[in-house]
Amino acid sequence: MNTDPNLVTQQNAIVRYAPSPTGRLHLGNARPALLNWLFARANNGTYVLRLDDTDTARSTEEFARGIEIDLSWLGIAPDIKVRQSDRTALYDAARDALIATGRLYPAYETEEELEIKRGRARLLGRPPVYDRAALALTDAQKARYEAEGRKPHWRFRLDGRPVHFTDLIKGLQTVNTASMSDPVLIRADGSYLYTLPSVVDDIDLAITHVIRGEDHVSNTGTQIEIFEALGGKVPAFAHHNLLTGAEGEGLSKRIGSLSLAELREAGYEPMAVAIMATATGSSLSLEPFADLALLGQALSLDMISHGAARFDPAELDSLNARILHDMDFARARPRLESLGLASEPLWLALRGNLARFSEIADLATLVTGPVTPVIAEDDRDFIAVAVETLPPEPWDATTWDSWIAAIKAATGRKGRALFHPLRLALTGREAGPDLRSLLPLISRKACLARLS
Ligand code: GLU
Repeated sequence: MNTDPNLVTQQNAIVRYAPSPTGRLHLGNARPALLNWLFARANNGTYVLRLDDTDTARSTEEFARGIEIDLSWLGIAPDIKVRQSDRTALYDAARDALIATGRLYPAYETEEELEIKRGRARLLGRPPVYDRAALALTDAQKARYEAEGRKPHWRFRLDGRPVHFTDLIKGLQTVNTASMSDPVLIRADGSYLYTLPSVVDDIDLAITHVIRGEDHVSNTGTQIEIFEALGGKVPAFAHHNLLTGAEGEGLSKRIGSLSLAELREAGYEPMAVAIMATATGSSLSLEPFADLALLGQALSLDMISHGAARFDPAELDSLNARILHDMDFARARPRLESLGLASEPLWLALRGNLARFSEIADLATLVTGPVTPVIAEDDRDFIAVAVETLPPEPWDATTWDSWIAAIKAATGRKGRALFHPLRLALTGREAGPDLRSLLPLISRKACLARLS
């Protein structure tokens, strides 16, 4: 991934991909996972996989394992792995520091009380922004709430000044935190919401670039204030457009639509999925790339569009086929070996007819048999001529053409009448791989058997 030299001089980028293990990854999640990976590899960087598992009710071990399987299938091998549930002490220290400087304050309103406040603001035509009543509480009032058994949640006191940052994708951004409610960082049960742990980890792990979905732009305003309040170095940000379905609808992780596991099981090439996940909604055309390194050389963050990123399943199918049609033998070899089909001429003869890799096993039977030849009554004489003119071995890439020339001269047939009966007799199928490259793979003996 090329990067603007003005923005990225560091040869030591540290990025993180931070999924919550609350579901299987889908194509939309693959976008930040891969954009971070391509960026890290292009910048001699470090890729951190951070599991955002502070939501203990919804996070599971199984989803955490699933994420690693899915990333590895895509070709991503994180350099460092952390999980937020192991790092609570760091968050507690940051909490205490923010309390000490007055940036984090306790608030005692219940959800119902807050709803009433929001309703009242709406009636008055005001934005439903939290009124900071909790900041005015005296120690005695707080003590009374505590005595009633109320537990506070904790809000971050926003500065109220516009926060500016230069996004590596979207350009100059301004988040007006004055129009936002002071965000709750800690729930009444003491658990952390996403906002604070993310900043604490980004500081602790010295993250240089935060590459994530554009649904986080307004969080970035808050988070930059928290970075500064904690004395941390603010990383660079890049917010990418979100992949949507054809109608612009969101891809949901929990529904599992287009989960990577399903795409894998459906037999898609990980590179087809990786290209779709990253190049959709960018100025890079959906072309085959043999591996992530080549994709990373072609795609840079500034090529991500500011508009929509609509995923079209038909494009995935076509890209998948084109990747297979271009795939060289060396790359296909390990999988061919596991099927007992590791032959370069066989691969080259068949790859052009694959929509999914697994179809190779069926196509290979055109060479190895069994084949049920189809010979129409009307074609019996024609096929007899084909048998008589079948060239002697050894066979090579020219055999088909010389055989066809001989049959044509003897029968006067041409076009479909010439080729189709031969295909039906030799393969038993209406359509299939080019016979010119297939023929030399079938022995003369097997050909004669199929023709008679
Ligand atoms: N867990 C957050 C998410 O999945 C991470 C966002 C971020 O990259 O900061 O949305």
